[in-house]
Amino acid sequence: MSDQGTTLTEAQLSAVEAELAQDGVWVADQLRDQVSPAQEQQIEDAVASSSAPAYVTLARLDHDDPLTSGSPADLARIIHLDTGRDGHYLGVPSYGDLRVEVTSFPDQSADWYASALAEEEHPGDLTAQVLTTLDLLGDPAAAREQYNQTHPEPGGPPDPTDPIGTGTGGAPTPWLLGGGLLVLTVVAAVVFDRRRRRRRTPVASAVEGRSLVLPVTVLGTVRAAEDRRREDEALAAVLGLGEAIDAAELRANRDEVRRAWQAALDHYDVASRILHRDHTPADAVGALVLARRGHEAMAAALARKGWTPARPCYFNALHPAAARRVSWSESGSKSGSEAGSGSESGRAEVSVEVPACPACADAVRAGREPADILDFLAHGVPRHYFTLDLGAWSESGYGALDTDLLARLLAFRGHD
Ligand SMILES: [Zn+2]
Repeated sequence: MSDQGTTLTEAQLSAVEAELAQDGVWVADQLRDQVSPAQEQQIEDAVASSSAPAYVTLARLDHDDPLTSGSPADLARIIHLDTGRDGHYLGVPSYGDLRVEVTSFPDQSADWYASALAEEEHPGDLTAQVLTTLDLLGDPAAAREQYNQTHPEPGGPPDPTDPIGTGTGGAPTPWLLGGGLLVLTVVAAVVFDRRRRRRRTPVASAVEGRSLVLPVTVLGTVRAAEDRRREDEALAAVLGLGEAIDAAELRANRDEVRRAWQAALDHYDVASRILHRDHTPADAVGALVLARRGHEAMAAALARKGWTPARPCYFNALHPAAARRVSWSESGSKSGSEAGSGSESGRAEVSVEVPACPACADAVRAGREPADILDFLAHGVPRHYFTLDLGAWSESGYGALDTDLLARLLAFRGHD
């Protein structure tokens, strides 16, 4: 058998779901040497005559499969979420000997006994295991009884409702065999979040529909190259965050850790949506800021810590985090409405306290304008971003004045 597992794109998943709707069985090409068309027909017949709905997905999923991470239980949950069809989902673990694993909706923890007995009766024979499992699932209590009679253990049989094996008197639970350590309850939540991440409606397409302040036609060559570089950087950061989220196995479930994880997902959502719609160079910088924050939130969650967003440098959110506050008055914004559609910020002549990175803080305190203030072209003229109407970006200083950047984005969306 090939070591190469099966991976599923969303389109392939839809095809699998369609096939399951038709006859209840999907066999991946990779397992065709184990399940012939005639055997598949046998399984389809058994599914058709089983007392409860059953869906059989026969594939060795790859550990790197972004949808399932190689888990047949994850695949079952995803299909169940998509289709809403209750029943027994039979799959194949990605590791160890060929065997059947059952995930049921509603959950029936006794199902484990059916597949365990089937494996003992027909080691290495996947079709026979599926048929036996389907048969035993018709009477789970009898399967449990049969298993207990053939496995008298001092500590009792493994408790399938105790996936991390804390209460089984030392007997390894089936989930631990083969090294596939999964904390199932948390994985369920993560899988759901992965799907939600992909499918939910926009939380904040905050900048969608806002007038474009920056006329692209006057972008100079240097400026265009700089914008492209930031755009590329933002795309890479967002892609990297998405991949990291997919690869992550969250093992803690304290509230603050869950909130950090949720923050990572939300930041990914918003950053991704910004980049996948028409957007300005200012939006690309915002997406990059969001992606970096998302990475930080995820790192905190994986370290089982809570997460509080760091306050960025007001002068350029891509600078190192703010170290101290300085007093700043922006004179540039007094020069009228050159910025086009936007109303001026009104901060023009007022000195404000703003957080600044060490270099910018040093400059301001020395009476100089910080080098490398984030600016964008407005009618061909570079302008400091905080003098332009860039919605939540300029209002919050990309999170420097209000670290709850997502809330600000949502608020602006509400005003559109
Ligand atoms: Zn700075």
